[in-house]
Amino acid sequence: MLEITDAKQEALKNESKGIFSSLSENNHEQVLFCHDPETGLKAIIAIHNTVLGPALGGTRMWNYKSEEEALRDVLRLSRGMSYKASISGLNLGGGKAVIIGDSKKDKTEAMFRKFGRFIKNLNGKYITAEDVGTTTRDMTYVRMETTHVTGLPQSMGGGGDPSPVTAYGVFLGMKASVKERFGSDSLSGKRILVQGVGNVGEALVKLLKNENAKVFISDINETQIMKVSDEFGAEVVNLNEIYDFDMDIYAPCALGATLNSDTIPRLKCAIVAGSANNQLEDENIHGQMIMDRGILYAPDFLINAGGLINAYSEYQGYNHARAMQDTEKIYQYTIDIFKKSAREGVTTASAAKKIAEQRISTIANVKSTF
Ligand code: NAD
Repeated sequence: MLEITDAKQEALKNESKGIFSSLSENNHEQVLFCHDPETGLKAIIAIHNTVLGPALGGTRMWNYKSEEEALRDVLRLSRGMSYKASISGLNLGGGKAVIIGDSKKDKTEAMFRKFGRFIKNLNGKYITAEDVGTTTRDMTYVRMETTHVTGLPQSMGGGGDPSPVTAYGVFLGMKASVKERFGSDSLSGKRILVQGVGNVGEALVKLLKNENAKVFISDINETQIMKVSDEFGAEVVNLNEIYDFDMDIYAPCALGATLNSDTIPRLKCAIVAGSANNQLEDENIHGQMIMDRGILYAPDFLINAGGLINAYSEYQGYNHARAMQDTEKIYQYTIDIFKKSAREGVTTASAAKKIAEQRISTIANVKSTF
């Protein structure tokens, strides 16, 4: 028989108290820990809110330093998905999953199929998709076990890589920002620095070049930066010059938290508009700091929603034209957020969050009767 000492019991009590207080901090509904020693699967699925509909959000595979770090990440990301879906007018809740492991070494068909079984058991409350460290191929394995998956290849009726749709939304959010700041939404002649020219960044560079913007790029991947620079004639900026570079628009399309106490005082731009998730290191402190510097910040979860809109379309029966049409709404939503921010004297990030929360609580009330 397994003996549990008093000390161990106390430790377990504290651990579980810690997890539940993390859940109550941002009102998460449910968290599922998925463990399968045979395949090495260690995953966490976080469902933040399902008032608007099933929780849709990708699966991130990452070599987390600790299980606590993985839990923190999935809780933060799933909450962001609730806001993204809500502000985009989608009937989707917010959820996300993380798999702990090295995406280059640890992936197997069996692991993703097992993961699919766990998703299946949630009976449609959570729908997955690809994210950092996972691909459409991984999703085809998940699909073998459950229908609650998007991000499938077009050959399987899916929407394929969502990045071009995300880039289109960011492009429109950028145009709305330019309209707000300069009175016209033309990007022609604007100096725009795209940080990270991966899937989204490269597609964005193409759209910007078509509008005759002056595009500058930066990336840690030498091969990728040379490819994009050659193809689109974009000028390369050194990694350590980004935050001091003279530009009209800074477009973070690589990492989160690049807007922080070190970078914001240095930025020489009028607008920040990019695809990266969680650009503000601290939503409140840095949202306010960027506003005080007179820089217009287009909230990331609003303008990078194209990928989610694409996944939603896939869930309903994929239609690329409809996904692009729905993504076009980002332009007006962004203008509306700027107006609200100016009217109420709050940061653009908090104006966007308020609208997202308001829609969730209004619809919760609608659904309160049979
Ligand atoms: P990606 O991995 O294809 O591209 C990221 C690029 O950033 C890579 O080329 C990488 O080399 C580069 N990079 C990494 N660290 C860097 C650094 N310190 N400085 C400069 N460049 C660096 O990813 P992606 O799919 O293009 O997504 C980009 C961002 O947008 C991510 O933050 C992602 O979470 C977010 N996002 C993507 C989608 C989508 O549809 N793909 C949707 C919403 C949000």
